[in-house]
Amino acid sequence: MLDSHGEVNSEHRHSLRPSSLDLTDDAMQSLAAQSVALVMEYLADVSEMPVFQHTPSAQLAERFSAELPAEGEPVEKLMEDCRCIIAGSRHSGHPRFFGYIGSPSNPVGVFADLIASALNQNVTSWRAAPAATEIEKIVVRWLSSLIGYGDSAHGLLTSGSSMGNLNALLIAHRVKSQDKVSRNGLWDAGTPMTVYTSDQVHLSIPKAADVLGLGRDRVRIVKSDAKFRLDISHLRECLETDLSNGLRPFCIVASAGTVGTGAVDPLAEIARVAEEYGLWFHIDGAYGVPAALDERKRHLFEGIERADSVALDPHKWLFTPVDCGCLLFRDAPAVRTALSFTPGDYLIVPQETEAESFAFWDYGIELSRRFRALKIWMMLRYYGVRRISAAIAENNDLADYFAECVSAAEDFELLAPVELSICCFRYVPPDKRAKLLSADGVEREGINAELNRLNAQILRAVQRSGRAFLSNVNLCGRYALRACIVNFRTARADIEATLDIVRDTARSLSAAPE
Ligand SMILES: *Cc1c(COP(=O)(O)O)cnc(C)c1O
Repeated sequence: MLDSHGEVNSEHRHSLRPSSLDLTDDAMQSLAAQSVALVMEYLADVSEMPVFQHTPSAQLAERFSAELPAEGEPVEKLMEDCRCIIAGSRHSGHPRFFGYIGSPSNPVGVFADLIASALNQNVTSWRAAPAATEIEKIVVRWLSSLIGYGDSAHGLLTSGSSMGNLNALLIAHRVKSQDKVSRNGLWDAGTPMTVYTSDQVHLSIPKAADVLGLGRDRVRIVKSDAKFRLDISHLRECLETDLSNGLRPFCIVASAGTVGTGAVDPLAEIARVAEEYGLWFHIDGAYGVPAALDERKRHLFEGIERADSVALDPHKWLFTPVDCGCLLFRDAPAVRTALSFTPGDYLIVPQETEAESFAFWDYGIELSRRFRALKIWMMLRYYGVRRISAAIAENNDLADYFAECVSAAEDFELLAPVELSICCFRYVPPDKRAKLLSADGVEREGINAELNRLNAQILRAVQRSGRAFLSNVNLCGRYALRACIVNFRTARADIEATLDIVRDTARSLSAAPE
C-alpha cells in the first residue's frame, strides 16, 4: 500500500509475505533488545570472567553439534547458545590478557560495526558506496597524520596487516620491476628480485613473498642487534653480496614494533639505504606505529615519513574490533599504474569526476570490502585523539612497570629491553640464578635448556589457570614469557597479580614436577 508520498508504508512493508526475511516490529524489538542486553552483559562482566577456560575441542564440538535446523528457533535459544560461545572463548578484553597482540574492542567500535552491517555497503568504489568511500578516504588521512606519515598520504583499509603487507610487496615488486637501469647497465628481466628484512620479521612477509610467487628464499634475512633492531651494516653487506651475485634487490621491510619484543628498526637509517640503492621502503607497523601517539615514543618513528608504504592494524593498538588493517602509501598514481588492470588509462566514465570514478580495486587486492572505516571514524570522533593517546601511553607505562617489577625480583629475569608495550621475561629459580652466573658455556647451555622446559610448563599452566594469559617467544634460544599490553582495562594491580600468578605456578610446578 502506498502512502501520500508514493512510498510503501511501513505497516504494509512489514505485513510479511512468507518468503520475506524481514521481521515483525515485535520480533525485531525482541531480537534487538536481547542482543544488546547480551553485549552489555558481556562488556560488564568480561573483567571478572576467567581469561580463558580450557575446554577440550571434542567437548566444545559436542556442545555445538546441533542438527542443521530446517525450521527456525526462538531467539531465547540462540542467546543461550551465544552464552555458551562466550564461555568457550578466550577474552582479549580481560585486563590480564597479555597474549599475542590481542586488544579489546572499544564499545563504540562494537556498535559502529552493527551500523555498518545494517547499512551493508560493499565498499568497492565510489559508485558502489559513495559516502562510505569518502569516510574511508578521510579515515586513511587521519590515520596517516596520527602516526606521523603526513596528511597527504593515500591508502585503503584491509582485513589486517597480513593483507596490507602482501598488498605492499605486490606494489613494490611491480613498481620496481619497471626500473630499467641497474648500477652496471640494464636489468635483465629474468633476474631474481630480493627483499630485505630483519630476523625479527613477522611471518606475513615470507608468506607474502610466497603468495607473490617470489618464494621465501627471496626474503633475505638481516641480523638484528642486541636490542632486536635491524643491523644496518649487515643490511649493507647483504645488499652488496646479492648485487655482486647478480640478484636484484627491490625492497626493504622495516618493522616498527616487532611482534616478538616490540623493537622499532632504525627507520631513518633504513630510509637512507633504501634511497641510496633505489629500493622500495615498506614499514610493517602493524602493532607498533600507534605508539607514535605517545609523545615520549615519537622519536622512535623518525624517518617514517620517508617510507614508500606503511601497514598498521587499527584492530590491535587502536582498539577497533577485528578486522581492520590499513595500508598507506605516498605515490597513489604509481600504485594505480602498477596495479590497474587497464594499464595507463584506467576506466573513467566520461560524466564522472576523478573522485567519482575512484575504485579501491585499483589500489588493493580485495574487491568486496566491508565498511571498516565507520568504526575508526566513530571511535576517533567519540573519544577524540587525546583520550586514545592517553590509553596508548598508559600501556607503555605499564610495560615499563612490568619490566621494573621483573628486574627488582630475585626470581625473574628480563630478556629484552622494553621499547613499546611488550615485556619479555622468564622465571629463574634463585638457586639456578646463582649457578647461571658462575657457569661456563656448556654448563650454562644445560641450565638454559632446563629453564626453557620450566618456562614452557609455566606458560601452559598459567594459561590453563584462566587467571592471566601470556604467550611466548624464542629470544636467541631462550624461552621467554611474553606480555603484550594493548589493553585500556589493564592496571598496575593486574601486572602485580600476573607476576604473583607466574611465581605461584612456578613454585607449585617445582614442588610437583610433571
Ligand atoms: C599482527 C602483525 C601482522 C599481521 O597482521 P594481521 O592483522 O594479523 O594480518 C604483521 N606484522 C606484525 C608486526 C604484526 O604484529
